[in-house]
Amino acid sequence: MPVSDSVDLDGEAEADTDAERDASGDGLPINELFYSLQGEGTLAGVPSVFVRTSGCNLRCWFCDSYHTSWEPTHAWLPLEEILAEIESHDADHVVLTGGEPLIHEESVELLAALDDRGYHTTVETNGTIHRDAPIDLASISPKLESSTPTPERDPKGEGEWEDRHERDRIDLETLARLVEDYEFQLKFVVTDEDDMPEICDLLADLRAVADVPIRDDDVLLMPEGATRDRLAETRTRVADLAMEYGFRYTPRLHVDLWNDAPET
Ligand code: SF4
Repeated sequence: MPVSDSVDLDGEAEADTDAERDASGDGLPINELFYSLQGEGTLAGVPSVFVRTSGCNLRCWFCDSYHTSWEPTHAWLPLEEILAEIESHDADHVVLTGGEPLIHEESVELLAALDDRGYHTTVETNGTIHRDAPIDLASISPKLESSTPTPERDPKGEGEWEDRHERDRIDLETLARLVEDYEFQLKFVVTDEDDMPEICDLLADLRAVADVPIRDDDVLLMPEGATRDRLAETRTRVADLAMEYGFRYTPRLHVDLWNDAPET
């Protein structure tokens, strides 16, 4: 269900979405809603309906959902319409993704409705926002320093988001609450070995404050790259790093299968 070209917004997603929500009532800004295979993480390969909300509180330079962050586009859909579209597909799994889906309060209502209907829900989050919601798997992807949109890497070439992104990308207290409250996987986008000390330091800090164990099996290394060509450069070295450090490797199955096609 392509909905991403219905409305085109410039500027900061949070402010825009708040204004639009006030104007149009309940619902969520939906960038894409489609049926595919989960491409990443412990459920890779599982047929799933993807609900991609628009808007993010971060701006990773390599964001593979550019039209939910740098240039957010969406249509506002009422929850009933979102649920009807999900139920039109023969899937038991729903992936709520973005953008950052937890910036939207209505995500909680959607997750509750999906729970009532017996769906397994995965929420793909950058780990900076916690909400009380029925989430079956919190797929938490903390953003490393290498994600920061420095002026040289900023896709818009403006460098406006560098400070805000750097300030907000890690919130240890929120990360701890997420791993304590939900079944979780910690998924790190890795470019090369330079990312590993930061991952190990963050894990040490998180293990020190969280009241639940974080096993090496809960930590997934995912190669940076939103195209087959880029993945060809990163995946082997990231797989080697997973073996070296004892963490899990996760593929980007959807990129392997469909490259960077939308709604995959
Ligand atoms: S947190 Fe995720 S959605 Fe937001 S900018 Fe980074 S990669 Fe994109």
